Amino acid sequence: MKAFDIQPTLQMYSGEIKEIIKVCIGMLKKEFIISTAGNVSVRVKLPNGQDAFLVTPSAVKYEEMGIEDAVLIDEEGNTIVGQRKPTSEKRLHLAIYKAREDIKAIVHSHATYSTVLSIVRMPIGPVVDEVIPIIGGCEVAEYGRAGTDDLANNAVEALGENLAVFIANHGNVCCGSSLEQAWTVCQQVEMAAKIQYRASLLGTIYALPEEAEEEEREIFHKMRDMNE
Ligand SMILES: [Zn+2]
Repeated sequence: MKAFDIQPTLQMYSGEIKEIIKVCIGMLKKEFIISTAGNVSVRVKLPNGQDAFLVTPSAVKYEEMGIEDAVLIDEEGNTIVGQRKPTSEKRLHLAIYKAREDIKAIVHSHATYSTVLSIVRMPIGPVVDEVIPIIGGCEVAEYGRAGTDDLANNAVEALGENLAVFIANHGNVCCGSSLEQAWTVCQQVEMAAKIQYRASLLGTIYALPEEAEEEEREIFHKMRDMNE
């Protein structure tokens, strides 16, 4: 049988889907989301070699989610395989994958401190030493209503070359060259947001010296090139 004759099934991607479920449960445990909020996706290859995207379903409890609850969609957002409705934020995921070939996985959460900073439009600044090498930076996108192309396009614009972005009055979007990396970025962003918020309550926030920031940015770009 030629590769292009093979019909994709969700079972073919059971390893990836199990990882997605693990991250969703992780978001619940860390209280980054409540109930069925947030969403996760991974870029995969179809048997014919084309890109497709595994996304979390809309309105399914993650604790009860199984392999057959995931949805495989194409780059236009059409369902290739799956009984469930894909996440309402599929446009956001697809717009990022389209703009950034290097990104293979995306985690979107409503983590508290990230959302707090997104409301006051405060990006994560160059203040915590370990943050730039891991995420590059995290700006705040212009407001767009949940599920719309506006939200998706604004997020892509503010993401730039970084691995994370805040969506205004909503939460964070975190990316990686693997799901493991996207999940690490998500936790790192929330930790940095928490630290920056708490520091801001005590007084002036001092940024890293410019040379240190530049060096850290170089490390970020080197690590990105290595992952490509
Ligand atoms: Zn959301």
